[in-house]
Amino acid sequence: MRWILLGPPGSGKGTQAKRLAGSHHAAHLSTGDILRAEVAAGSKLGQLAKTRMDRGELVPDDLIVQMIRERLETMTNHGGFILDGFPRTIPQAEALDRMLGEINAPLESAVLITVSDDEIKSRLAGRARLEGRSDDTEDVINRRLHIYREQTEPLIEYYRRDGRLIEVNGEQSVENVYQDLERVLER
Ligand code: AMP
Repeated sequence: MRWILLGPPGSGKGTQAKRLAGSHHAAHLSTGDILRAEVAAGSKLGQLAKTRMDRGELVPDDLIVQMIRERLETMTNHGGFILDGFPRTIPQAEALDRMLGEINAPLESAVLITVSDDEIKSRLAGRARLEGRSDDTEDVINRRLHIYREQTEPLIEYYRRDGRLIEVNGEQSVENVYQDLERVLER
């Protein structure tokens, strides 16, 4: 499988990507997880990314695309991949299509997990309390949602245009969302 999962922060992309990747022997790649590991390690990339992440802003496209490029070929050789949190901008989506084109492994589907704004806000507030993520405070949550609308939502049209978009209702139990995703895969 060669999928990306799209959806607002808190839509459950990470949870679903992990499980799907596990049951289909695909690689799961979360740019947020990689960046958090870089921040924890205090690497140069981590230092560059941290200020943006803490503000709920996006890390520059070129840094992110480079990060993905390094991992893509290995991933496509191993039962495919599920990307979670990437691409987040049109230039990232175009770069991904180019990189996958070069290795003859085009994206199959962009799967959008839909969740309303109110539901997202209450989920993220809960996650802030549970995980203590420094980017889950109320101001930052609003900022991240705003940036999602402005920079990431245009991807929905980008993938819908050529028939690669699939939508799944994210306002159900984790189990039911997962079952819907499995049904999509069977089609
Ligand atoms: P996430 O865990 O996917 O919500 O990502 C946490 C933060 O990492 C985001 O708010 C961004 O600051 C940064 N980030 C993750 N993925 C990307 C990406 N594809 N492009 C730019 N910034 C990203």
